[in-house]
Amino acid sequence: MTAFRRSLALLALACWFAAGLALAASAHPASAYRASARSASTHSVMTRMTPNAKKPPITWKRIPFGDERKRQMATYSKRHYGTAAWQLTDPAVVVEHFTGGTSFSAAWNTFASNAKHLGEYPGTCAHFIIDTDGTIFQLVPLWIRCRHAMGMNWTAFGIEHVGTSDANVTGNAAEIASSYKLTLWLVQHYHLEVRNVIGHAESLMSPYHVEHVAADRCQTHSDFSHADMRTYRDHLRELARKHHVPVGPPPAWVDPNC
Ligand SMILES: [Zn+2]
Repeated sequence: MTAFRRSLALLALACWFAAGLALAASAHPASAYRASARSASTHSVMTRMTPNAKKPPITWKRIPFGDERKRQMATYSKRHYGTAAWQLTDPAVVVEHFTGGTSFSAAWNTFASNAKHLGEYPGTCAHFIIDTDGTIFQLVPLWIRCRHAMGMNWTAFGIEHVGTSDANVTGNAAEIASSYKLTLWLVQHYHLEVRNVIGHAESLMSPYHVEHVAADRCQTHSDFSHADMRTYRDHLRELARKHHVPVGPPPAWVDPNC
């Protein structure tokens, strides 16, 4: 390399270095801004998207659910759903009920008694009872099938509300507030869809309804009507959005042909 070429090469190297420095100097603030904006927006998206419904206070008041009752639930499941199981392994639905009475202890005693219902064991049951003062009682662990709604027990949590009618429960501010809090937390925790929060009276229209006993295929109750549950779900969706809990798609009811 001649001296001239060497100096040209040195000049080119110097220019390249200077350009690099200038680029770094000019690029740094912008890229730092973009990086920090990206990080801030990622942070705000994460903050915005993280579901934050809190688990409401729950008071345990267990009913007996020993080996015999579990065996009865498995036999019931085999007969009605086709598989012998007492475990609730794949919950997809919440069924809302009212007790038809005014006393928590009367409802609890009924569920604890494990008396034959419609000629069959196990006795009726619910995972939760919400009392008129808003206290949420849990009776059974959430991995156990409770017998509360024909056709649904293989996949549904059951929430009973102490009360004599839909309006009696929805008109009680403390009780209905607890109902929304508990249901929203279940939706969040188990990744349920709000459309699968149903009233007992909607059980036959649920795509999750399964009933192998022909005589029981159209059996349901009148607690929490379709109209009242539409209002309930609308409010639940509002709360879910407020707490960034995914609400899922709109309802897809089935014709029960009953
Ligand atoms: Zn019911």
